[in-house]
Amino acid sequence: MLQSDLGVCLTWKHKRKTLHCDTSRNLAIMKFLKNLFDSNKVWAANIKEADPEFFTKLANQQRPDYLWIGCADSRVPANEILNIMPGEIFVHRNIANVVVHTDLNCLSVIQYAVDVLKVRHIIVCGHYNCGGINAAMDNSEHGLIDNWLRHIKDVYRFHKKQIDAMDNEKDKLDLLCELNVIEQVANVCHTTIVQNAWASGQELAVHGWIYRVSDGILRDLDVCTTGIHEIAKIHRIA
Ligand SMILES: [Zn+2]
Repeated sequence: MLQSDLGVCLTWKHKRKTLHCDTSRNLAIMKFLKNLFDSNKVWAANIKEADPEFFTKLANQQRPDYLWIGCADSRVPANEILNIMPGEIFVHRNIANVVVHTDLNCLSVIQYAVDVLKVRHIIVCGHYNCGGINAAMDNSEHGLIDNWLRHIKDVYRFHKKQIDAMDNEKDKLDLLCELNVIEQVANVCHTTIVQNAWASGQELAVHGWIYRVSDGILRDLDVCTTGIHEIAKIHRIA
């Protein structure tokens, strides 16, 4: 009986200790994300091996030629898709790569990129099968994000006839992904930041691209805009 009690007691103590260890280990993982720091060390070491001066040079200045405005989707990271190194592209990302006239975050990024970094290209890049676009096209309530998705519903409303004429849902969503990029390119061009840069003779092209997650390939939507004469008169600032 005593043995049995002792056995139960030891087992319980062992379980409690194991539970405590598991909890501590989980807490350590939650707090410190050691796997990511380990991965970072490997990445930095690989880059240093290829170019021992890389980080020293990068620390002294950034001079990117490009500003990327893309979706926050984890499958669409600018540097990896373009196969370019840190320092080569300035990046702003949000849900469904939207450029809103009152979004001080996005506008500040554009201003810094254009006025200070003097980028020569702004790339608005969307992607097919975008969760933000899909969510905007249904009638469910998604919470706070519905206020953001309304900008995409506006894009649908502007192009309703063209989108509704598509045969199936997939084609409709794909077309909305493309039209959303085209609208956001226009929104970038309508900013005083871009128009003032053009007025001062700064060379600046605004591009609209789309990316397909399922094959990793980018496509140019052929809406590149390089001057005030290419935008609608109503949006021109003299
Ligand atoms: Zn997306």
